[in-house]
Amino acid sequence: MKKDNCIFCKIANGEIPSRTVYEDEKFRVILDMGPATRGHALVLPKEHFDDLYEIPADWAADAFKVGRQVAASMKEKLGTDGINLVQNNGEAAGQTVMHFHLHLIPRYRGDGAHILWKPTSPSAEELDAVLAQIIG
Ligand code: AMP
Ligand code: ZN
Repeated sequence: MKKDNCIFCKIANGEIPSRTVYEDEKFRVILDMGPATRGHALVLPKEHFDDLYEIPADWAADAFKVGRQVAASMKEKLGTDGINLVQNNGEAAGQTVMHFHLHLIPRYRGDGAHILWKPTSPSAEELDAVLAQIIG
């Protein structure tokens, strides 16, 4: 189902024009208007799901399949050296548009884009504690 007043519902379903790089019956892939790198794109489901917690497993799997296909095409056509797939959920994780989307962020050697995290150094006890909490 679409959600009223959701900009990505409108873009995904063609009610608002976008720079579409791929489309099928379930997804539209558009260029991000504030790209981290050249070719940064977003995989948008045409149905509304807020985030990873809401999207059904088959849609999530299909979003990844579409991402994989577009990544391959970017490698060939843009000459990318790599790609980051990023998917933010919740404000705390940096999600600003509350309609599930998968970022495809092409990478070029020496592009200087800031995508990845800074590693921390937890103790063995802390790692054991979080493991116990997750699997317990
Ligand atoms: P996130 O922070 O993961 O929610 O990502 C939202 C992304 O959507 C950002 O990278 C924005 O630049 C992008 N964005 C927001 N509105 C639009 C729009 N109308 N067209 C294209 N990209 C958009
Ligand atoms: Zn939506």
